Amino acid sequence: MEGERTVFLVTDLKQFSYCPRIVYYAYCLPAVRPTTAKMEVGIAAHTTAKRRERRRTLAAYGLVEGERHFDVWVESKELGLRGRVDLVIETADEVIPVDYKNSRRRAGPHVRRQIAAYGMMVEEEWGKPVRRGFVYSLLTRRAEEIIVTERLRRGVREAVAAMREIVERERMPAPPRSRRPCVDCEFRRFCNDVL
Ligand code: SF4
Repeated sequence: MEGERTVFLVTDLKQFSYCPRIVYYAYCLPAVRPTTAKMEVGIAAHTTAKRRERRRTLAAYGLVEGERHFDVWVESKELGLRGRVDLVIETADEVIPVDYKNSRRRAGPHVRRQIAAYGMMVEEEWGKPVRRGFVYSLLTRRAEEIIVTERLRRGVREAVAAMREIVERERMPAPPRSRRPCVDCEFRRFCNDVL
């Protein structure tokens, strides 16, 4: 919280897409969240990726030159959002956020929204335009370009507003329509009404 305003993390956007209740638990009952083995494996994979990235050219991103900045913390006062970007590539006329993923799948809607959120924050803080970002797969070592459209930007604003409504009013949202996300959910023991 900053003053009375909640500042969310970009990773909350992903959780919110998975199930809005996770955001409620994380902010309204913050003491209950465990660190899972899956999260620790993810952190180790990202560290290895950064070591490799330093040795590579920018060809995976279709670029000949650009300056690489790793683990960049960014924040948007306007959005009330902050996060750490794995990599920001700075060229003469644009800045490009890159997010590393432990997945072979193409970027789904929540990953695209996450890239847009990073882009909006980098733009606000660095004062340079963000037109696109990349999702870099640590498994295939390929980068997928994501165009940061106005629609994606709107989706970020709407999701943050919805998260704020839940947290600041302390209203537990309804569960997702499908119960499939509940099977692997770390909060399932709190959702007696759905399981
Ligand atoms: S158990 Fe299901 S309803 Fe509860 S937080 Fe997890 S995904 Fe949401």
